[in-house]
Amino acid sequence: MMKQTDQTTDVIVIGAGAAGMMAACQAALGGVRVLLLEKNEKAGKKIYITGKGRCNFTNACETEDFFENVPQNASFLYSSVYSFDPHAVIDWFETHGVRTKVERGLRAFPESDHASDITRCLEKEMRRLGVEIRMNAEVDRLLLTDSQDEICGVCLKNGTRFASRCVIVASGGLSYPSTGSTGDGYRFARQTGHTVSRLSPSLVPFQVQEEDIRKLQGLSLKNVMFTVYGKKRKLFREMGEMMFTHFGVTGPLVLSASAFVQDAVAASSLQAQIDLKPALTEEKLDARILREFDANRNRSLRNALRGLYPSAMVPVIIERAGIDPEKPVHDVTAAQRKALILHTKQFGLTITALRGFQEAVITHGGVSVRQVDPGTMESKLVKGLFFAGEVLDVDALTGGFNLQIAWSTGRAAGAAAAEQVRQTGESS
Ligand SMILES: Cc1cc2nc3c(=O)[nH]c(=O)nc-3n(C[C@H](O)[C@H](O)[C@H](O)COP(=O)(O)OP(=O)(O)OC[C@H]3O[C@@H](n4cnc5c(N)ncnc54)[C@H](O)[C@@H]3O)c2cc1C
Repeated sequence: MMKQTDQTTDVIVIGAGAAGMMAACQAALGGVRVLLLEKNEKAGKKIYITGKGRCNFTNACETEDFFENVPQNASFLYSSVYSFDPHAVIDWFETHGVRTKVERGLRAFPESDHASDITRCLEKEMRRLGVEIRMNAEVDRLLLTDSQDEICGVCLKNGTRFASRCVIVASGGLSYPSTGSTGDGYRFARQTGHTVSRLSPSLVPFQVQEEDIRKLQGLSLKNVMFTVYGKKRKLFREMGEMMFTHFGVTGPLVLSASAFVQDAVAASSLQAQIDLKPALTEEKLDARILREFDANRNRSLRNALRGLYPSAMVPVIIERAGIDPEKPVHDVTAAQRKALILHTKQFGLTITALRGFQEAVITHGGVSVRQVDPGTMESKLVKGLFFAGEVLDVDALTGGFNLQIAWSTGRAAGAAAAEQVRQTGESS
């Protein structure tokens, strides 16, 4: 049992991120005492940088479509997301004073384009409901009863102990550790007997082997088809935007692809291809090349192809096709055109690794969902212990889906923790 307690409450929430603040609001709404502990000096540090500072806080899709965007453990989320779905989240923020708007791809943002509106709204609601908020309060470990199967509080790094009936771990993952997400929740889970699946960065750029892509650094491609192959099957294929960097490739297509190649890329490097002209068949592309040649008679291949590719791409494609860039277009053979077509339709890349957690939007892996009740987010191993948000082994694509997971699981955990306190009667 607790040795010396500095304060007693009903529900402790660890982490003032999206999941933790929503959980705290919901628990307080249930009429119990709530203490929110955050190790940073302010709440919602990660929320401030979401959606490039605009916070794409959910996606206004139909609930069934939401699950299409959750590659990892979508079925675990059915109960919590149906109870608090994207439209309910938009309503929640509207009701609490944040005017919202929906943009391309059904991405929902605050109308002001300020992520700070979301954090301010949650803080205001927590204050209104009487949540006690402590900043600069870093939880060091969870405290269990002697039987080890029930939570009874937490201990801060500075030795302060808090007793409580329930603890909600909403301490995030490992991505962008400067925001406070340093993986503490995984440690808490392991220390209390839970399984944590392999953790890796996701929604993250790719490191690429080919040296010539360095010449493309900064080049953005729109409307290209990007395909990633595993050893035996296609892992990802989609059309969209991507960008070259000094180390490889990034951009929306690449971030999405990273969610589908986690295990494969951990085992070996992967082949990928960019179709630079997905709207053109090989025949049509050949006709287009011949038109460019016609319009640029007597000019070098290097100059003639400028109308067909972004200028940085021209020398790279020609080199990959094995043609002298200074060759006059009338000397380019049919076989050489075929090579140009091949490298245009199948611009090859070797993905050697994912970039690190510093650059990852989310963490893939986390607390095993088999050990957590999907309706309440309570641990099946330790009574009174709940998990919410990115600390869980669930992850989604870009588009507002990850914050939706935080809102839904946070709300479920907060409601269930309050209910448990109420059912067990008097406060501890
Ligand atoms: C650059 C970037 C952009 C993103 N953009 C979007 C977007 O537009 N839309 C979207 O849906 N998702 C986006 N995401 C993902 C989204 O931000 C996360 O999925 C979401 O914030 C996870 O919420 P969380 O509450 O689980 O964790 P976090 O937001 O990480 O919050 C965890 C909190 O717990 C605190 N904490 C950790 N350990 C302790 C401890 N020991 N004691 C006390 N406190 C502790 C941390 O300081 C932190 O404040 C983005 C992520 C990044 C990195």
